[in-house]
Amino acid sequence: MNEPDQTFLPELESDFFKELLGRLEDPVFVKNNQHQWVFANQAFKDLIGCEDLIGKTDADLLPADQVENFYEGDNNVIRTQTSLTQEEQVGEGCYALVKKSPIRLPDQSIGLFGIIFDISEYRKVQLEVEKLRLAKVQSRTDPLTGLANRRYLETYFAQINEESQSVPMSTGLLHIDLDYFKAINDTKGHLVGDAVLVHLASTMRDSVGSTGFIARIGGDEFVVVIRDISQSALKGLAQKIISAVEKPVVLENEKCAFSISVGVALDSNGSLTLNEMLKFADMALYYAKDNGRGRYEEFTPRVQHEHNESRRQRDELRRALDENEFIPFYQPVYDAATLQMIGVEALARWDHPERGILLPFEFLHVVASERRMVDLDRAIMSAALNDARILQESGCAMPGLSINLSPESLASDDLVEYVQQLKPFPNGVFFELVESMLLDEPNGVLRDRLDGLRALGISLDIDDFGSGHTSLLGMLEAKPDRVKIDKRLTLPMTESQKHYDLVKSVIQIAQSLNMETIAEGVESQLHCEQLLELGCTSLQGFGLARPMPLSDLKALLLEKDAA
Ligand code: C2E
Ligand code: CA
Ligand code: CA
Repeated sequence: MNEPDQTFLPELESDFFKELLGRLEDPVFVKNNQHQWVFANQAFKDLIGCEDLIGKTDADLLPADQVENFYEGDNNVIRTQTSLTQEEQVGEGCYALVKKSPIRLPDQSIGLFGIIFDISEYRKVQLEVEKLRLAKVQSRTDPLTGLANRRYLETYFAQINEESQSVPMSTGLLHIDLDYFKAINDTKGHLVGDAVLVHLASTMRDSVGSTGFIARIGGDEFVVVIRDISQSALKGLAQKIISAVEKPVVLENEKCAFSISVGVALDSNGSLTLNEMLKFADMALYYAKDNGRGRYEEFTPRVQHEHNESRRQRDELRRALDENEFIPFYQPVYDAATLQMIGVEALARWDHPERGILLPFEFLHVVASERRMVDLDRAIMSAALNDARILQESGCAMPGLSINLSPESLASDDLVEYVQQLKPFPNGVFFELVESMLLDEPNGVLRDRLDGLRALGISLDIDDFGSGHTSLLGMLEAKPDRVKIDKRLTLPMTESQKHYDLVKSVIQIAQSLNMETIAEGVESQLHCEQLLELGCTSLQGFGLARPMPLSDLKALLLEKDAA
């Protein structure tokens, strides 16, 4: 073992080296294999804060955990006789790079020579750069799914447009939208909603692979961009993603199955802007949704045409509702036995500025697809009640007024409030409810709503009974006052025994429930006779009177009063 005084290195204490190493601003030291300093320049002494270092070890001056680290480095250098560079944090914001190299000491033992560089400034810059890089990544990605965000998609697309100026190349874009995402969120909660989005993102990553760019551009909206792709490959990819997404999964302990709709757009030379591509893919997406969801649709001139057409219809419909172009026509309803007029049914007509009076079959599908049924029902309801008031004031009251209520209206939360503010009502107001799923389910909210309407003095009829979705239980639940027999049953009954028998059964069912029956589609004398024979209470049909404007109804009522 070396004695401390033997480790002193007089060679290094020569004036020349003293001068040289003393001037060196970087701390320098030499240690023997016992970790004792055998030489240190002034810079090192200043760094450690001790003038009298020779013969001392790190253990004499520094905290234990640091010492252990330094010793491990020392031992490594001495044992392997190779240099080692260690980076040390030596204080808040202070970093040092310690380079240790083996050196043979005058007593022939192996020690080490160390030099320390202050890299605090360098590290500071490096940390700043890393922070900037992270911020850049974060500003370009969606935190939930880790996919690119819309801003990044825009940058990426600008790059595509620029590249395509020199090398034209096709660009395919898929606009993907999760079907019924709102319902998933509402019924299963946001946790499941988020899990679905994350799952969707990873399924898309798997399907698209490394060749495509995927971005999340809205709540449940995603975009995939692929370069240099053929039309068939792009459609193939759309189908691949759709099929992959349809596989059921368990998320947050819930077994889930969902579907996506995809709009496909291809630009053969990559010159369209992102907004143009999105617009085309969007039109295709809506087409896919309109045609049943869970499928893709490709942008074509036909899709464009349909899109323009539906936009035109939507704008026209908005205008028509704003300008009160929807008006009621009235079709009289008669007592089957006396053929006295006992009421009218208000039927919507579109008084179109260019096309004249339009029938429901010409506009109802647009109203429904634009989700404006509630507005239409309310327009007709308030106009009809207003007409009834005007007639009453002019001395020829309507005997009864039936108003059609769509399932959408029946489902609207503020129905009762809306109807209430239309008061006062004329005598005998009936709402015609179509058989729908709504009536099928025992449902407390619905029952309260129907009771609310009854409390306002309104009677309820079941419309189109015997068509489509029939449920006697649903009908019992709604407890209607009357049942209207669908014209598709009535019309053929005079020629078809089967239809005759069906009408007979419907009337018997209604009678057993103490309900009156109104038959629609009464076109002939024979209809009137057969229906009266079967016990039907009221009749409505072209054979008796067609739907007519208010002015004609007024004339009819005056004529009736005069008779
Ligand atoms: P609906 O409620 O069953 O109304 C009866 C329909 O049968 C009316 O057609 C009427 O003109 C027609 N009709 C009456 N008698 C005869 C007949 O003897 N022969 C034939 N072939 N048809 C007859 P319209 O006015 O075209 O209405 C069609 C449907 O449009 C209505 O059927 C109803 O479902 C719907 N609708 C009309 N107005 C409204 C409304 O204000 N709100 C809602 N939600 N639906 C409405
Ligand atoms: Ca009706
Ligand atoms: Ca009907």
